[in-house]
Amino acid sequence: MKHFTEDEKIKILSDIIAIKSVNENEIEVANYIKDLFAEYGIESKIVPVTDSRVNLVADIGSGSPVIGVSGHMDVVSPGDENEWTSDPFTLIERDGKLYGRGTDDMKAGLVNLVLVMIELKENNKLKNGTVRFMATTGEEVGGAGSKKLYEEGYMDDVNYLWVAEPSHDTIIYSHKGSLNLHITSIGEAAHSSMPEQGYNAINPLMKYLLELDEKLNGDDRKNEVLGKLVMSTTIFNAGNQVNSVPDKAAAELNVRTIPEFDNDEVIDLFNKTADKFNKEGAHIDIEVTMSLPSVFSSKHSKMVNLAKEIGKKHLGLEISVKGSPGVTDASNLLRGKDDNFPFMMFGPGETKMAHKTDEYVYKDYYFAFFDIYKELILGLSK
Ligand SMILES: [Zn+2]
Repeated sequence: MKHFTEDEKIKILSDIIAIKSVNENEIEVANYIKDLFAEYGIESKIVPVTDSRVNLVADIGSGSPVIGVSGHMDVVSPGDENEWTSDPFTLIERDGKLYGRGTDDMKAGLVNLVLVMIELKENNKLKNGTVRFMATTGEEVGGAGSKKLYEEGYMDDVNYLWVAEPSHDTIIYSHKGSLNLHITSIGEAAHSSMPEQGYNAINPLMKYLLELDEKLNGDDRKNEVLGKLVMSTTIFNAGNQVNSVPDKAAAELNVRTIPEFDNDEVIDLFNKTADKFNKEGAHIDIEVTMSLPSVFSSKHSKMVNLAKEIGKKHLGLEISVKGSPGVTDASNLLRGKDDNFPFMMFGPGETKMAHKTDEYVYKDYYFAFFDIYKELILGLSK
């Protein structure tokens, strides 16, 4: 029999917070979890994503249903560490809150999944079905890890997916997609006293971006949960001398997509509009630097209903069920699944705390989610 004490739960979270898994260092987290699983006889597999980045996958139980549980191992940079009240990589408790980079997003959720896997296995609680633990790499930078898991078939037999991202009193069952584009415009340099001798790279790019901004942000299509697609041009670079016509301009932009107006359609629109401009003399070129589709699932899946009930019991809070503008690894993990696939994002910590200085998770909620996860898995695997 194994029952993790509160001290043990804090110790393990604190060990994992101490691993600086900011960019390309998730392997240390993966090795830590792998060793911990091994202590309790759970075999896990390192799934390489790049030379230095890895995912970790482990199954307990057998047969169906297959419950997929997932969390990312990377954290965002702490920024200026002097702005933190205490060292971001040392877990510290103050006023019932556990402080440290990644406590909220999302090591508290991840550790709970690990501990639940171990207790279920050790106490032989899982009578039916499989729990597939999928710890990913690089979620914060385009989801390379989750893409790999999808490509290698780890999602093929999965019946439920839940991502333990911080959401606290809310279950997220649908979210927007995210698309990044890098656009370049090539012209010909000239002295600004004789612009006709060259071709100003800025002008067509400005017109191009504004035309697409109007088309996309002005589009009427609306998802019942996620609302409308939004696009923002976020970076624009061109020119280096006030009296020279620039021969190059470049911009980057981000689009938050919905199922009714998806990533492929947006990319197609950017390409077609570029063709039109290029026929008129411009040289506009498009590169898709990230494309994560939106996720749309049922608000009334067995998983969501059960999570709502169990969540309320352990948190003492009314749990709301919503859509979100943010993306998760589910964008990749659910590729090819239909709209009724049961998905949710539900984890300890508040969404708004993610990526903040003095990031924290409430200790009580960290513990409560352990119980929530355990009951939920047992409820789903019945
Ligand atoms: Zn996250």
